[in-house]
Formats: sequence, C-alpha cells, structure tokens
Amino acid sequence: MVLDHVLLVLILILFALALMPGTAAAEVVAKGARLGGDASHTRFTADISKPVSYSVYVLPDPYRVIVDLPDVSFDLVPGSGRKAMGLISEYRYGGLGQGRSRIVLDATGPVLIEKSYLVPAKKGASPQLVVDIIPTSDEAFRASFARDNGQPAPDDGMAGLIAATARPAAAPPEPPAALAAEPAPAPGRKVIVIDPGHGGIDPGAISPGKLREKDVVLAVGHELRKALQATGRYDVRMTREGDRFLPLKARVQFARDSKADLFISLHADMVRGQSVRGATLYTLSDTASDAEAEALAQKENRADIIAGLDFGNENPEITGILIDLAQRESKNHAVSFSKKLAAEIAPVTEMTGKPLRAAGFVVLKAPDVPSVLMELGFLSDPADAERLASPAWRNRLAAAMARAIDSHFSPALAASRP
Ligand code: ZN
Repeated sequence: MVLDHVLLVLILILFALALMPGTAAAEVVAKGARLGGDASHTRFTADISKPVSYSVYVLPDPYRVIVDLPDVSFDLVPGSGRKAMGLISEYRYGGLGQGRSRIVLDATGPVLIEKSYLVPAKKGASPQLVVDIIPTSDEAFRASFARDNGQPAPDDGMAGLIAATARPAAAPPEPPAALAAEPAPAPGRKVIVIDPGHGGIDPGAISPGKLREKDVVLAVGHELRKALQATGRYDVRMTREGDRFLPLKARVQFARDSKADLFISLHADMVRGQSVRGATLYTLSDTASDAEAEALAQKENRADIIAGLDFGNENPEITGILIDLAQRESKNHAVSFSKKLAAEIAPVTEMTGKPLRAAGFVVLKAPDVPSVLMELGFLSDPADAERLASPAWRNRLAAAMARAIDSHFSPALAASRP
C-alpha cells in the first residue's frame, strides 16, 4: 500500500518533470564571471552555456569596456563584479531589452582591448568568453574609440592592437525602443506615471549598508501605485515594475505616449563626507536654481552612461530648449504640484533646507507632461537610509503623496477630507 503510494508519487514527479519547459526559455546563461591578472594585463572571463556572437569595444568618459551580447540571463553570485582587480574597478551586467544584454567593465584608466575570443566547451567545462585588457594612453584610447565609431583616427602606431577589437565599425548601439504605451485611459481618470529611477544594470546610489537606490525607489513606486489605485480615481502606470534597465529618454517617451497628467520620478541621493538628509523636489529648469541642484541633475542624467548607452543623436523634440506654451504650462502645473507635495510629505519625512529646486533633469523634459523628480532622501545618511529601508515608512510616504495628488487634481475633494 505504502509502496503503491511511493510509486504513484514518483510517476507524478516524472510527469511534472517531463511537462516542465526545458532550458530553451533562457537561450544563453552566463554561469560565472571573474577577473584575473594585474594592472599590466587584466583578463575578464565569463562562463557561458553556449557560444554566442558578441562585440567588445571601449567607451570614454568614464573609461569603460563594453561587451554586447544577445539575450543572456546572468546567473552570477550576487555582488560579483563589485571587487576591483587590475585595470577594472567594477563590472555590471544586465539586459537592455529587445533581446540584448550587456556587460560594462569600469576601467581605472585608459585601456585597450588586446584581444577577445571564445574558448569552445572542453570536457566538463563551459564555453568561455575572454577579454584581455591592457593599459594605454588617453590619446590611444580615444583613437580606438573614434576608429570603432567609424571616424578617422590619428595614426598612433597601435593599429595592430586596435584591429583586435571585435567591434564592427558602426555607430553606437541603438537605444531600445520606447516602451509600448498602455491603452487609452478611461475618460475622466487622470493618468499618473510613476518612474522608479535606475534599475537593472544601473543600481543608482548605494548606501554604506548596501541599500540600493534602484530597489528603494521601486518599493516606494509600488506603494504609491497601491495608494493611488485604492482611490479608484487614477489610471496609474509605471515606467518599470521590476528590476530592469530603462534609458532616460524611454521614460520620457512612456509618459508622453501615456498622455500622463502627472509624471513623478523617484530617486535617492548619496553624498560623501557631508551630513545632509531629507527629501527634495525638483522641477525642470534650463538654469539650475543652484550649483548643488545642477550637480545632482548631471549625476542623475548619467544613468544612461552607467549602462554604456551614449546617444549621439538626441531627439531634438525632447532635448531642445522648448520654451513653448505647452511646456510653460506643464512647468507651472509641476511647480504648483511640488508645493502641495512638499506640504503633504513634511509631517512624514525630513526635508532638506531648500526642498523646492529646479535643474535640467533629462526625465523632466516632456514638454506636454507636468513632471516632478523627487529625491526621497540620502542613502549616505543613516537616519534617511533607515527610513528608506522601512516598509512602514514607505507606506506612510506613499499615502502622503497620494493625498498631494488628490489635492492637486481635486481641491474640493481634498478640502472635504476629514
Ligand atoms: Zn537617482
């Protein structure tokens, strides 16, 4: 009797295994990666489940080596990539969407790709992708970058070395297309787009306790969506719902395609050697309200650079200085909303000394969408980091933000609230 049961269970397990989708779902898996060597010659090796087509090239400002791959899932030990070795201070990896993945190696200085190659599978060992990196001068680095991008480069006598790069002579990779907008909103409901900053290959700021900006802002984004959906008054959309990378322009385009009535970008800052804490709200301005705001906008605008996306041809419609009526109106709405938001969140969180500021953030540049960027606090400050890590606090903050949105769109409703 017991034996019968055991047999039955075994047969069921076998059936379940047979029905499970095979490993075909994830075409290629990176199962390990490591750095070796020293500052005169550093080797990056990735163990992959099967050989792939790839391209390797350098990007300047800051010095980086980029490995472009097809759709690869990364099954690496968490935290791998954070340890410096030789010419590489750190590496990151992740999907870029549209069947593309990328590994970004941050170099300590100008480097050249000495060679890169695939090692076929050997008995008991996976195929490997190997990139050998050597130091060079800034001039030779820039010449290599220029040549990879199809520009004439000065003769630096390094042609042999540079020819070893596997990058086809082509323009920088195309950005992933903008996210598909969801269907049109129900009439009468305001569309709110929540934009959790960073994601995927770009972690954003990281606290001393290893709290990552991309995770914190995503958690707050989900809380805010829940709070807004609970009112039944809003059509709420998120630029990203999970841990994935999104270029800045795709976030703006998503807000525009969604015909958003309000766009809220969520971030958390980090400063070294200063004790600053509290939240700050930013609206768009061509002239930053102060040097600090300008520096922050430059930092946040580097999100695409972190992922190795350097866009040469920017969309003039979005990036141009569009001081037209639509933008002025959007900006006035954004400023008016940010004042209400500051008032509502003040009892829930600390604010910086100057909580309403303006600067040229890329994500705030939709001319037809009132847009606000909220720095929730400083991951470098222990009190802020503790708040940001607390689900209860995130819940209270989201409720306060939802109240501000209510009072922005329906002042009468907000006034009647007990
Ligand atoms: Zn950020």
